[in-house]
Amino acid sequence: MPGRGSTAASTAMLLWEIDRPLSHLAAAYGFEQASRCYNASRRALDGLVDLVRRLEVRCQLRSRGSLYLAAEYDASDLRSEAEIRKRAGLPTTFLDYSTLLRDYSFSREGALYSEGAADADPVLLTYGLLKAVLGRGARLYQANAVAFDSARSGVHVMTEGGVEISAQYLVLATGYVMPDIVRPTIQKGASSWAVATIPQPAALWKDGTLLWEASKSYHYARTTVDGRVIFGGEDESLVDPELRDSLTASKTEKLKQALHQLWPASSLELDHAWSGTFDTTADGLPLIGRVPSFQNIFAAYGYGGNGVTFSYLAAYLIEVLVSGQRSPLLDDFALDRQAP
Ligand SMILES: Cc1cc2nc3c(=O)[nH]c(=O)nc-3n(C[C@H](O)[C@H](O)[C@H](O)COP(=O)(O)OP(=O)(O)OC[C@H]3O[C@@H](n4cnc5c(N)ncnc54)[C@H](O)[C@@H]3O)c2cc1C
Repeated sequence: MPGRGSTAASTAMLLWEIDRPLSHLAAAYGFEQASRCYNASRRALDGLVDLVRRLEVRCQLRSRGSLYLAAEYDASDLRSEAEIRKRAGLPTTFLDYSTLLRDYSFSREGALYSEGAADADPVLLTYGLLKAVLGRGARLYQANAVAFDSARSGVHVMTEGGVEISAQYLVLATGYVMPDIVRPTIQKGASSWAVATIPQPAALWKDGTLLWEASKSYHYARTTVDGRVIFGGEDESLVDPELRDSLTASKTEKLKQALHQLWPASSLELDHAWSGTFDTTADGLPLIGRVPSFQNIFAAYGYGGNGVTFSYLAAYLIEVLVSGQRSPLLDDFALDRQAP
């Protein structure tokens, strides 16, 4: 069902900053590769925003700045991160305690402020893009794909209802549910919880800046067009939907406490609390490229907290592959890469 899966649960903070700090990625892969990945993510987000505006997709898209708030990584870590991002040509500035308090009223040791983020309604975004491709001749089949057969000349997909679809190429983008033919070792599923408050436009922080914590497991927050706070986090490495849903009440309480600590001015009256599962990787980079041993089958998975940004990057890179070109990013994001 289009627009369901993780996308319906997404808080849709559109960040080019990757789940792993640039300094950590550079320690694992070297500065050149890490900087290439960050810059590709930044270009992808610019490309997505541009596409949405060109196609006039009505999805409440708003350009925003983002604040990466000191938490597990402290002010001195953030200063180093700001330095390396500057070297990579990225638009990030370090804010010390007093500047952060004066300009944004957040009481943290420091933060990184980055330009070029955005937020949007993820379901309206998906429907808008789908409408655009359907208008250009794409066909939509609602069916569960159960088997795949790849030959030199093309691909056949067998669906649960017995319909067979033939095409020249196949792109698998089935979220955290991967078919058996895709076997990455660097990936695992995770669940995240989120809440939305009642509308409270007078109680929001400056500019509705996107917020996330500098930590391996982090809280994240944004505002909405109608003045709500969306606040999420408390991630766990579990994917079972029943277990996940059974934790929602306790996770909601933890999220309310963390929101109160971060932004005491916020009302804690909630309109909605939910959870969802998504796919993460050990290095925070996506899995994009050819499925090993399958000539005409490509895949786009492992998006972590950058799902929306990386989906655009996946579309771009798979077009690169289909048109027979090369990009070093395809090695960076290879499905069969090992954990660093
Ligand atoms: C609570 C939460 C908050 C998040 N916040 C953010 C955020 O702020 N910013 C961000 O960028 N990302 C965020 N993410 C991650 C982001 O939502 C996901 O990475 C992204 O939505 C994945 O999109 P997708 O289309 O790849 O997968 P999905 O949205 O999961 O879609 C996959 C689709 O494939 C279908 N499918 C599966 N198997 C088959 C099959 N065999 N045959 C046919 N169809 C199949 C599913 O039914 C589904 O419709 C968040 C995720 C969660 C859970």
